[in-house]
Amino acid sequence: MSSHRGSSSGRGAGGGAAPPVDDGISTRTSDEQKAIEDICVALFRNFINTDNQVGGTTFIRLHRDRLLPCLMEGLTRLPACMSGLDASRGWFVFWITHSLELLNYQLDDATKRNVVSFLARCQHPDGGFGGGPGQLAHLAPTYACVAALMVIGGEEAYRCVDRGRLYSFLMRVKNVQRGGFDLHEGGESDMRGVYCAIATASMLHLLTDELVDGIPQHIAACQRWDGGIASEPGSESHGGYTYCGLAALTILGQAQHLNLHRLLDWACHRQMSVEGGFQGRTNKLVDSCYSFWLGGILPVVHEALRQCGEYVPPSHYWISPMALQFYVFLCCQDPRGLLRDKPGKPPDFYHTAYALSGTSLSQHGPSGRQEVTGHPDNRLAPTDRFYNVRFDKVRMARDFFAAQPPFTTAEGHKGREGAGVTAYHEMLTLAESSSVGGGGVEDGRVEEIIDSRGTS
Ligand SMILES: [Zn+2]
Repeated sequence: MSSHRGSSSGRGAGGGAAPPVDDGISTRTSDEQKAIEDICVALFRNFINTDNQVGGTTFIRLHRDRLLPCLMEGLTRLPACMSGLDASRGWFVFWITHSLELLNYQLDDATKRNVVSFLARCQHPDGGFGGGPGQLAHLAPTYACVAALMVIGGEEAYRCVDRGRLYSFLMRVKNVQRGGFDLHEGGESDMRGVYCAIATASMLHLLTDELVDGIPQHIAACQRWDGGIASEPGSESHGGYTYCGLAALTILGQAQHLNLHRLLDWACHRQMSVEGGFQGRTNKLVDSCYSFWLGGILPVVHEALRQCGEYVPPSHYWISPMALQFYVFLCCQDPRGLLRDKPGKPPDFYHTAYALSGTSLSQHGPSGRQEVTGHPDNRLAPTDRFYNVRFDKVRMARDFFAAQPPFTTAEGHKGREGAGVTAYHEMLTLAESSSVGGGGVEDGRVEEIIDSRGTS
């Protein structure tokens, strides 16, 4: 079996990495790995042979002209082949509006109103959101619909959420016996539920002591020997669950419950040395959605280490942003418009949103240092590392909810945003004021602040 780093020499987008180990034994897994490496290398070579005479990497293009019409059409009409995804309609709204905001596309007021009105119809009378109008409340679409409302932004969108009922839904799905949250009442429980509940409650300033009680210990119990986080205690480390567990704990300001160095080591080694993109688990193939689920771990670890009192140089990113962008731009843009998991797979809205989200984080770096591969137009708006909503929209929503009377339960529990999010923004504000005063802030986060204001 080939190693998780691939079976060939360092000849691709991530070619600067140490040579992968190869035991020379052919299996289905190693054959599939070799095949995708060969396809990616052929695409890289094709690009070099076509464009090297006119300037090399500056001609790598993100084809916005193809992407935008597909995204706009998807907002109003989904293809018949996607009718089976009726329970993911809130997700479609998030994937599409979030992709558009990263591309700096401004929706007109009528479209925004339509989006808010649709999301309002997905809200369950007893709290939380379903996958579509009239459907059962479920934690995954609850996160998606609330995140989409943050993307739209503004008082009408924020006030659309019934925070009191949403809170009671979160308390109903909290699983005290097993730890974590069930995805819906009587449903399965895994790390997605933990992230969706914690991120949603933090966005809406609904985190209380009773909601959070026991959650850090549950997440810590899901960290595995190799540093990654599993869906539940005893399962296999997985990129998506690792982002979910780490982000939830860092939002809560409780990242010290994890072995962050081991987690970092595991995450870094998921970047493929030939293809440049990320795999979701050891010995799996590259997949563009892990540009976010794995690539998003790095900036969160950066902040988690800072909050745990460890110095990390602002420029440290631990992975290669350029190699990741080579993979997304050269291997994942489908000629029909959207982005795909990998060459040979059909494009879709999910992979479009998460490939762009991961690209955005890689371009702006953990400390805001910009690294855009190819044409300057490839630059995306910065997304927030905790919620995956555009950074300036998150700031706007924080200001709104901070100005509201605090949510208080009948028993007197007070709602708030996560302590880790508060600490992160306090650090940014300090950096910003030092910069304004000519304090010579070495940390590039100031660029991120200025940058986000420029795109609002
Ligand atoms: Zn994927």
